[in-house]
Amino acid sequence: MPLCTLSRRALQLKSSAIREILKITEQPDVISFAGGLPNPATFPVAQIRDAADRVLVEQGANALQYSPTEGYAPLRAWIAERHSLPGAPVSPEQVLLTTGSQQALDLLGKVLIDPGSRVLVETPTYLGAIQAFGLYEPHFVSVPSDDDGLVPESLDDGLCHGARFLYTLPSFQNPTGRLMPLDRRQALVERAARLGLPLVEDNPYGDLCYDGAPLPTLRELNPHGVVYLGSFSKILAPGLRLGYVIAETALIGKLVQAKQAADLHTPSFTQIVAHQVVKDGYLSQHIPQVCQLYATQCQAMLQALEAHMPAGVHWNRPRGGMFLWLALPEGMRSLDVLQRALAEKVAFVPGEPFYTGAPDPRTLRLSFVTVPPARIEEGVARLGRLLGA
Ligand code: PMP
Repeated sequence: MPLCTLSRRALQLKSSAIREILKITEQPDVISFAGGLPNPATFPVAQIRDAADRVLVEQGANALQYSPTEGYAPLRAWIAERHSLPGAPVSPEQVLLTTGSQQALDLLGKVLIDPGSRVLVETPTYLGAIQAFGLYEPHFVSVPSDDDGLVPESLDDGLCHGARFLYTLPSFQNPTGRLMPLDRRQALVERAARLGLPLVEDNPYGDLCYDGAPLPTLRELNPHGVVYLGSFSKILAPGLRLGYVIAETALIGKLVQAKQAADLHTPSFTQIVAHQVVKDGYLSQHIPQVCQLYATQCQAMLQALEAHMPAGVHWNRPRGGMFLWLALPEGMRSLDVLQRALAEKVAFVPGEPFYTGAPDPRTLRLSFVTVPPARIEEGVARLGRLLGA
C-alpha cells in the first residue's frame, strides 16, 4: 500500500480516552458505569418494525431514493411544530435534519470556526463537541461553571471578544448531569444578547426530565440568539442516527451546503420511519416511560453511593438525564483510581478529557441507566472499597 502523507488536521487526531476504556468494559463480567449508551430496553422495537413495514409497503420507492439535504419535509414540519411557541413559531425552513446531532456539531464547526477562532465552552463540557470543533482548530475558552452550570456573570467583553459562539448544555449535561436553573438561563440569554455572543444550545437530554416539567430552553427564552441542537437518540434510539438543528434560515443555508459535501442527506428511510413513529403523539407516552426507568436507576445509584462511599467523596443528585458527576477526596486522581477499578472489574469515565482548560483530576462520570439496580449496588460497593470505605 502506498504511504499516505497525513494532513496536519489528521495528525492532530487522538483516540478518545473514553473509547479506549470502553474496549475493556465490553467484557461481560465488568460492571460498567462508563458507557454513554441509552438503556436498550427503552428502544421501541415493535413500533419501529411496524412503521418500517408500513413505509416500505406504502412508499417504498420514496423511502429508498435519494432525498433533499434539508431533510424529509413532513419530519421538518413536525419538528418545527414541536418547537413552536405561541407568538414565536418555528418554520420548517429553520430546521435541518442531521445524521445524529453529532453531525450538527461537525457542520457548525465547518461553517463557524476558522483556525484560532475563539469558541467558549462550559467547564467541563461534552467530549464529542471538543472533538468535533477541535478539527477546525479553534482556541477554546473555558467559561467558569459550578453545580448549576456555567456562570453567566463571568461572560464579559474580554472573554467574549471575537468569540464565534458559546457552546452550552443547560439540561442534564453530559458529563455532569447538572441542570441550569431558570434564573441563570434568563441571565445567560440576556448577557449573551448584550455581548453579541451567539449561543449553541445542545439539548439531547432535555426531555429526560424526571422531576417535574422541563425548564424553558435557551432557544425558547431568546429564539433569535440561539442555534439549537436536538436529537432522537435518547428518546427513540441512537442507531437511527437522527438529529437536527434549528437556526435562522441564513445559517441553515450554509449548513445545508456543508452537509451536501459531507453526506448528501440523512438517510431517507430512517427519517420517514421515525416520522411514522412520532407523528401521532407516540412520544407523549414513550418519554414518561423512559423517564420512569431512568429515575429508578438514578435512585438506585444514589442509594448505593450513600451506603458505600467513604467521607470526602462528593456527588450531585441529577434530576434528569443519564449521568452523575462525582469528585474524589482532595489529592486523589480518578485516572489512577480507574486502573485499580478495572482490576476489580468496575469502570467509569475519568473527568479529565471533558475539560478544555485545567482539569479537576478528582472528577469522574458515572452512567446509571444501563446497569441493573442490583449490579449498580455491587459496582458502587466495589468502588467504595477501593476508596477505603
Ligand atoms: N451532544 C451530547 C451532549 C451528547 O451527549 C451526544 C451523545 N452522546 C450527542 C450530542 C450526539 O448525539 P447523537 O449524534 O446520537 O444525536
